[in-house]
Amino acid sequence: MIDWLGISHLFELSETEAVAGFFTPLIVFAAFFLAQMILPGKWVPGYVVDPATGEPRRYRLNGILVFALALIVWAFELTGMPRDWFYRSSVYAVAGGTVFATIFTLIAVYNHPKREKRNFIADLWDGRVRELSFFGDRFDVKMYFYVVGGTMFSLNALSGAVYHYEKFGADSNPGVFLYAAFFTFYILDYFVFERVQLYTYDLIHEGLGFKLFWGGLIVYGWLFILPLWGMAAHPDPGFSPAWTNAWLIGTTALFLFGWGISRGANLQKYTFKRWPERKFLGLVEPRYIEAGERRILCSGLWGVARHFNYMGEGFLALSIALVFGYPGNPWAWTYFAFIVSMFVWRQVVDDRQCAEKYGPEKWAEYRARVKYRICPGIY
Ligand code: NDP
Repeated sequence: MIDWLGISHLFELSETEAVAGFFTPLIVFAAFFLAQMILPGKWVPGYVVDPATGEPRRYRLNGILVFALALIVWAFELTGMPRDWFYRSSVYAVAGGTVFATIFTLIAVYNHPKREKRNFIADLWDGRVRELSFFGDRFDVKMYFYVVGGTMFSLNALSGAVYHYEKFGADSNPGVFLYAAFFTFYILDYFVFERVQLYTYDLIHEGLGFKLFWGGLIVYGWLFILPLWGMAAHPDPGFSPAWTNAWLIGTTALFLFGWGISRGANLQKYTFKRWPERKFLGLVEPRYIEAGERRILCSGLWGVARHFNYMGEGFLALSIALVFGYPGNPWAWTYFAFIVSMFVWRQVVDDRQCAEKYGPEKWAEYRARVKYRICPGIY
């Protein structure tokens, strides 16, 4: 079965290495905790309001420093860990990380009182609280997830590229290196705009249950490189020089196009939430529908579709499916399949929640004004 799946290279660890792989996430979690606590950070007010004080919650952001430190430690093998270790130990790390995420979830859920009309499974999945922070808000669990998840996503991708190079040398697939570069850029960008993350769905709506513990730490950190599980085992697809250029330049353009839409839409919403009357990039006039004290943005990228940012993620995911030069291999499509299903589902849920927040009438007015959910003219 493993041979048939094409991932037997991920099962080549000795017994001792397999145990080390299993515990790798736990060591990573502890190291990131220390780094995040010790490195200097910038205190900022968030978007979510603390019901106890009526004031915005405070966050201490230092993701970019943690990311840079982790990259240096990994690149120079400062802990003695080989650069290809994260990739080679992926399967065992996912198993161990899932066990640890489950334990953390149980602690987080059962340390808080049961919510009314909620069963055991629902509590475990969605959690009982939406926020958890310690040490006077110095350590916020949701932001920790994104620092660990994002950084490990990039390190796992880079580690896979190192494994690939060591295996194939001159016959390496440039698409694998481009893939690692894409996601290192993606995560760097994420940390550059870390404050914008405070205005997104997970921070606003998600509870602290298994979905976020496992999703934020293990799915984001380790499983997002699923395409590489299959694709790092294949050499250069051997296109002609002209096709190689078209393929690499084309997928890079598609990646940047998707990233541009997504980053642009997120920044526009962020600008609007902080400075409602300010033109986005000095160009796009903010037009909105008033719903009591709230405002629904419906100009610029938010006038094209109600979640055009998800469309950007879709293009980006398509570039990932194509970047390896093996479009016939199902592994190449795993990230795309995940992103499309997650965002189609999320848009439906967000739409419902927004209708409640903004009021059904105002939301219906918005839906009439901006007709499409994600993809203009199609969906
Ligand atoms: P959004 O940033 O779109 O956040 C949704 C919230 O924004 C809504 O609940 C609502 O909250 C507010 N909102 C939505 N529409 C409007 C509007 N028209 N006017 C004003 N406020 C509005 O979603 P996500 O957090 O899901 O995504 C953020 C980014 O992160 C996206 O680019 C996404 O693609 C990316 N992402 C990527 C993932 C990946 O795996 N690659 C995973 C998750 C996210 P309120 O009204 O309370 O402000």
